Amino acid sequence: MKTLISNALVIPMTKEGYSLRTDIGIDGTHIAFVGKAEPSFHPDHIIDASSLLAMPALVNAHTHLSMGLMRNYKDDLPTLQEWLAEIFPIEDQLTERDILLASRLGIVESIQSGVTTIADMYFNQHSTAQAIIEGGIRASIGITLFGDLQQSKERVKKSEALLRSFRSHPESRIQFDYAPHAIYTCPKETYQYAHDLAKEHGALLHTHLSETRKEVEDSVQEFNATPLAYLKELGCLDDIRLLLAHCVHLCDEELEILKEVDATIVHNPSSNAKLSSGLAPVSKFLEHGLNVALGTDGASSNNNLNLFEEMHVASLIGRVYTPTNTKLSPYQVLGMATTNGAKALGLDHRIGRLEAGMEADILLVDLHKSHLTPLNDPFSALVYSAQASDVDTLFCQGRMLMQHRKVLSLSVEDVLHDANACWTDVLSRKRG
Ligand SMILES: [Zn+2]
Repeated sequence: MKTLISNALVIPMTKEGYSLRTDIGIDGTHIAFVGKAEPSFHPDHIIDASSLLAMPALVNAHTHLSMGLMRNYKDDLPTLQEWLAEIFPIEDQLTERDILLASRLGIVESIQSGVTTIADMYFNQHSTAQAIIEGGIRASIGITLFGDLQQSKERVKKSEALLRSFRSHPESRIQFDYAPHAIYTCPKETYQYAHDLAKEHGALLHTHLSETRKEVEDSVQEFNATPLAYLKELGCLDDIRLLLAHCVHLCDEELEILKEVDATIVHNPSSNAKLSSGLAPVSKFLEHGLNVALGTDGASSNNNLNLFEEMHVASLIGRVYTPTNTKLSPYQVLGMATTNGAKALGLDHRIGRLEAGMEADILLVDLHKSHLTPLNDPFSALVYSAQASDVDTLFCQGRMLMQHRKVLSLSVEDVLHDANACWTDVLSRKRG
């Protein structure tokens, strides 16, 4: 299948401030060219993109798809700790089918906001993997560890058997990482176990880190070290790639530690604000040369999976919270949601830029909107003005997942119906 995206305003994310009006050719799963179409390219399908903007599809580098079930539930609690005390008992009783239905919901929402790649952390990973394959997107799925070493080993054992088939999925849209939840839910033996598995399998270690001031204070009291320094002492930062969600309360010594290891910080500004956790000093991270990606966190602490909104919030906070007096630029924020996210997951040779030879993860934004007119600066427009609902068409690995806002890979009606029925059932089981 060959597709020609004709005469689009293209933001390839290959160079700061660079945009051009040209064609994009898709041949099967890959981008054949970005430039004027050769007469020898005979497309099966032509998209007139004269009123569309083409850019790399977005990467949501930290989320919990299935938490969409708990959207707008117990929102009035003052701290992360009190909120988790309400959420954990519900999560304990979610079934494999609940997770499948909830994952489908999160995938529909992701597609509708231009996201083709997610880093997920949750339980019953095979249900999430099944939904990812159905939905046609790609994911780094965390084998989530929670509790002591024995519990963690049982989780890994259960996961390994179930995930073996997905690991060899021919389209390779799924990879797995090891995801100890946080230092306040996992002891040191669990982190060391996760580290050793990540090293053995060449996988990421994905964890929450320094999300709240309380987490840092408790760490100093219990371990006589800040959270990152504690993980360093355990040897958990060596010889692996790290995906560190939040990092709201890192001290300067911890930034120096991060410069020496292969880590990405995932900025989740909506979740951090909503849970009163604080604001991460992102400009400081970037000035230290650290890779910073963008995430929504779960839809029960955000309360959506809308990465366009996340870019907007990150941009606004990055203008007003500037500990180093440098403000985030629109291009930097777009980079966090595309190239930096791809790099974080080890996928930057496949996705995150629009160039010949890259896999065709492309989103097309409809520019024919009042809030995008006139289009003086497309980079500013994408982070300050654009809405997720402006995403008209979405490709993942060359497959069209949404066309003119219609999701093609899943039935939106069925997914919404099933999610509502599932949540009603979860609540009745909780009461029962
Ligand atoms: Zn999270």
